[in-house]
Amino acid sequence: MRKFVYQFSEGSKDMKNLLGGKGANLAEMTNIGLPVPPGFIISTDACNDYTTGNKHLSEEIFEEVKIHLSKLETQTGKVFGSTENPLLVSVRSGAPFSMPGMMDTVLNLGLNDSAARGLADLTGDARSAYDSYRRFIQMFGDVVFEIPSYQFEQALSRIKKANNYLLDTELTADDLTELIDAYKLIFSQATGNDFPQNPLEQLRLAIIAVFDSWMNPRAVIYRRLHDIDASLGTAVNIQAMVFGNTGESSGTGITFTRNPSTGEKEVFGEFLLNAQGEDVVAGIRTPEPISALQMRMPMVYNELLKTCELLENHYLDMQDIEFTIEKGKLYVLQTRSGKRTAKAAIQTAVDFVHEGKITREEAIMRVETKQLHQLLHPAFHESALKNGHVIASGLPASPGAATGQIYFEAKEAVQAAERGISVILVRNETSPEDIEGMARSNAILTAHGGMTSHAAVVARGMGKCCIAGCSELTINEKEKTITLKTGEKLYEGDYLSLDGSSGNIYLGEIALTEASIGGHFDELMGWADAAKKLMIRVNADTPTDFKKALLFGAEGIGLCRTEHMFFDEKRIPYVRQMILAESLKERESVLTILKEMQKADFSELFRIAEGRSVNIRLLDPPLHEFLPKTDHEIEQLAQDMNRTVPQIRKRIEALAEANPMLGHRGCRLAITFPEIYRMQAEAIMESAVIVHDEGISVHPEIMIPLIATKSELSYIKKEIKQVIHAIFDRERMVLPYDIGTMIEIPRACVTADEIAEEAQFFSFGTNDLTQLTYGFSRDDATKFLADYYEKDILAKDPFMTIDKAGVGALVEMAVTRGRMTHEHLKMGVCGEHGGDPDSIQFFHQLGLTYVSCSPYRVPIARLAAAQAALGTKQLVATL
Ligand code: PEP
Ligand code: MG
Repeated sequence: MRKFVYQFSEGSKDMKNLLGGKGANLAEMTNIGLPVPPGFIISTDACNDYTTGNKHLSEEIFEEVKIHLSKLETQTGKVFGSTENPLLVSVRSGAPFSMPGMMDTVLNLGLNDSAARGLADLTGDARSAYDSYRRFIQMFGDVVFEIPSYQFEQALSRIKKANNYLLDTELTADDLTELIDAYKLIFSQATGNDFPQNPLEQLRLAIIAVFDSWMNPRAVIYRRLHDIDASLGTAVNIQAMVFGNTGESSGTGITFTRNPSTGEKEVFGEFLLNAQGEDVVAGIRTPEPISALQMRMPMVYNELLKTCELLENHYLDMQDIEFTIEKGKLYVLQTRSGKRTAKAAIQTAVDFVHEGKITREEAIMRVETKQLHQLLHPAFHESALKNGHVIASGLPASPGAATGQIYFEAKEAVQAAERGISVILVRNETSPEDIEGMARSNAILTAHGGMTSHAAVVARGMGKCCIAGCSELTINEKEKTITLKTGEKLYEGDYLSLDGSSGNIYLGEIALTEASIGGHFDELMGWADAAKKLMIRVNADTPTDFKKALLFGAEGIGLCRTEHMFFDEKRIPYVRQMILAESLKERESVLTILKEMQKADFSELFRIAEGRSVNIRLLDPPLHEFLPKTDHEIEQLAQDMNRTVPQIRKRIEALAEANPMLGHRGCRLAITFPEIYRMQAEAIMESAVIVHDEGISVHPEIMIPLIATKSELSYIKKEIKQVIHAIFDRERMVLPYDIGTMIEIPRACVTADEIAEEAQFFSFGTNDLTQLTYGFSRDDATKFLADYYEKDILAKDPFMTIDKAGVGALVEMAVTRGRMTHEHLKMGVCGEHGGDPDSIQFFHQLGLTYVSCSPYRVPIARLAAAQAALGTKQLVATL
């Protein structure tokens, strides 16, 4: 017989794939003796059985659920559906990977009219019983039947208003029975049926709703953003309810064992008295900091501290713990590895090593590579901030600074972002439906909710600036206005600036500065450098970028795109003259001017490199890209060059190509105009000589783009070598240098053994290689790739993450064939994939020498390379 349902006592923390993260940890905590309300888990296998079985919950599974339900009755001494002593349960989703707030939960299930009455009689607390029942109707209606929750909220507000209440907790038992009737009416109007009174039917529907929530749009988007495999499925946790809404000695909260924003070693969190779990997460009431619990319930507070310590030491990681206090007794409802900012991730990982709890290798594996982006976030320019006018402050929920225009709806935020606007999403509180709007905004501002509210948790995960719980502001989402304390109003499109580290909100735009890296970053990166095998170089063609990259730990330049130097305002007229030259002589005289300019560039890069590798790629794009485009520009050029407008237009037309990406570019230019590459090679070597004479060692790598055949490379290499050796003869010296090639055309991969006869290195240009392998234009593919994702034809953008099966296989072939000719051929990657962690893992496995990426991705690449090396080590160890 297949087994789909597990008691908590049957599981462990190592069974996440089967029991989901929440279930596995509930099982673990039960087994180590923590006060966990009893329950059982319907496995992810059941979810997959449901999904693959045409969304049918099989009787086999439901029968097993019933067996476990009766065990739960025995454990609790309560009876499901009883009117005297009803067993109430929570039904919660729990995927193998944490997806906070993405899927559904139903609390207080098992209540119906008579059970609510029975519960009221049993406990003598009619208020709590009816409060639980009205919450259940609302959650069940929302989750299972998708009745918009505002309909319930409106009914609640009506009754509060009629009685002049400010808080939900002021509602009396009579008010709540009136509310229950209103809720039941909303339910029957929306569904055409009465609210289900049979608890087993309630349970069946709730389980189905949780399974369905695995495929809801917000969960699908979250999985895409976090690379979570859709075939995993979710588990369902059924657990006896404990009640935090039974008066002032009850409550509920969330606590982190360390500060999830900074990583500081302090228990951090918040709680609400007389409330149920969802109240804290939903951010409807603003919770109190966890330290206040010490005053209110010292015994519970101390037990909570001990629990935090025990769980952190047990899991050897910072934990995010959900708890409920029922009439002075503490229950633990969840523990999981706490989501944290990059700063906190590094701080805790390094602290855990210092505390002797984990190894350096484990610390490296713990920091998510993509999270490092957060450390590279901007802050406000100090001097600009001096003139900033703080209009309000809220909770500093997620660090970083942002400036932008305010939008009040997630959908409008997405549209504005698509128009290129820097958006700040402003909401009373966010909900999982807002996920895409949040992802597309620069920052998030909410009026309600605490540090663990949805907005705070999600923004922190995304590494986005967020200020939550800013109650000084009155946000009217319908009118799209913010009213300040002064009465002044802000409207959609107005500018605000947010400091997610201080919680301050400023009017207008404030200039931003680049991020700074501090804390334990260098220490962790030092460990990463010791562990990694790949070298990390930078794609840089300006001294500023190169210097920045060196600060980020780059080990040299992997790609200097020389064409970028040509676009400079002062140079472009000469570049154009070179293109328009009518004779070789004329062209060569302009090239001499350009050479001096290039020499200045290269010498500066060699100086900064201080002996590190500098890979300079000779001119790559088609010449027409440098020519003027507008009428005005053409007229200007004609004037500057003493030519007529028709002459210029004729030349532009002559250079135009139907498909320039496959046209006269890269090494093909040098086949037609060898003097261009000769000039560049001279500039490189003459500057190498200058810098060498200054006492700095230099070893230039000269790279030829777009090679398809060995014969192209032989021809160009001969040309270049001639000029280089002429310099050596003239200077009576010899410097080391390498001539190599980009491998970015499929033919080059297939004939890499031949090409390696002429190349001293290979650098994989995976941008062009992807373009040419797929036949997808790198400039236009975004226009149709969205359809590919939607129709599950492609999972990821192949221009971002290497397509291992196709493009990757070609790279592998080139590596193997290149090594057949030169066993120790130097090989690297300089396409965008060189900064992508998943692709880096693949390049590590191929045993490449280096990857090269943009400056800001250098730290990410260092960490990814270390993780790849350690991951491979683990793999080998387990074989
Ligand atoms: C490439 O094609 O991967 C590459 C690095 O060159 P470019 O992007 O300049 O074409
Ligand atoms: Mg290229």
